[in-house]
Amino acid sequence: MAYDSSNVFSKILKGEIKINKIYKDDFALSFFDISPKAKIHALVIPTGEYENFYDFHTSAPNKDIIGFYDAVKKVIELLELESLGFRLLSNCGINANQEVQHYHVHILGGEKLK
Ligand code: AMP
Repeated sequence: MAYDSSNVFSKILKGEIKINKIYKDDFALSFFDISPKAKIHALVIPTGEYENFYDFHTSAPNKDIIGFYDAVKKVIELLELESLGFRLLSNCGINANQEVQHYHVHILGGEKLK
């Protein structure tokens, strides 16, 4: 399936939708989830156009992959989640109920998670 740039995270990258921003660099943008599932619920998305984890790791140059995960680590540190812990997850495709078809990871923390 080809990347569809009408998705909400593509609009966020173009500045068409407001976010509560946490971090931005050349490789990634991070912001708070609009419908938090934990006390702290951040999202991190690559600045490039990739549908999901599998597409990203199949198609992105290594420098973009490294840059993206460095940004994820930076966000974890900015949110001070590293010592008490957090959950990092990514829904990929139909069976995982991925809602937004632009690769993203969820960072959940700030409390004891179920
Ligand atoms: P997923 O099911 O992994 O695709 O998750 C998509 C996530 O994006 C959900 O947790 C939504 O709450 C979140 N989301 C959707 N629209 C926005 C938005 N405009 N700003 C922040 N988060 C959003």
